[in-house]
Amino acid sequence: MIYLKTQEEVELLRENNLLVSATLAEVAKHIKPGITTLQLDAIAEQFIRSHGAVPGFLGYGGFPNTLCVSVNEQVVHGIPSDYALREGDIVSVDCGTIMKGFYGDSAYTFAVGRIAPEVQKLLDVTKEALYKGVAQAKAGNRVGDISAAVQEHAETNGCSVVRELVGHGLGRNMHEDPEVPNYGARGRGPLLKEGMVICIEPMINLGTKYVVFERDGWTVRTRDRKPSAHFEFAVAIGKQGADVLTDFGIIENALKA
Ligand code: MG
Ligand code: MG
Repeated sequence: MIYLKTQEEVELLRENNLLVSATLAEVAKHIKPGITTLQLDAIAEQFIRSHGAVPGFLGYGGFPNTLCVSVNEQVVHGIPSDYALREGDIVSVDCGTIMKGFYGDSAYTFAVGRIAPEVQKLLDVTKEALYKGVAQAKAGNRVGDISAAVQEHAETNGCSVVRELVGHGLGRNMHEDPEVPNYGARGRGPLLKEGMVICIEPMINLGTKYVVFERDGWTVRTRDRKPSAHFEFAVAIGKQGADVLTDFGIIENALKA
């Protein structure tokens, strides 16, 4: 069941996703060698609550924290811990909020200090793949148009696409229909309609596409332990194109400061 949103509901989703973006920008300021992923989690939780929202992931399916923090070979759903970030790591930070009955959900992968050139390329390719997908997110296209655009960009650049985890609809629930895979064929899948709100979230690996589910019940990592990147936008489908509800600009300005 795909729930179409009114413009008022899209604005509530925008409020949530802009708060997620501001939270990720706050986290970005603290990403340095030596900080633990639990410290990042505490910063995010305090920031979200001080803005009148509730962390969207905390308690969701039993998840224990505010952020999913996934370092290097971890793909997604990493649990914050006393692991201290090191120079050369990459860290994917996925964040959710609930406010006024709706969810926010967005993610960004950060470099910790100087990283290897091939890992920087993985970050660039993954973010570009997200933008290629967003360019297809318009009424009249199909989910497969997004999926194919993401997959083509990743694979053309020698990276691989995780199959086990996908994007999704977003609204009063964090995971609504339709599923939005990061691989697929043009012209296939559900029709995109005005009022749909979806999360497009490529999870792209430097090595093999295969992943392993860790015994903690949450963490997903690459089978070959090569790094993985993850960027996520929430977008509303419009007639002319995607109305992006997430703001990476505020995150990237925080990184430059
Ligand atoms: Mg997310
Ligand atoms: Mg998501």
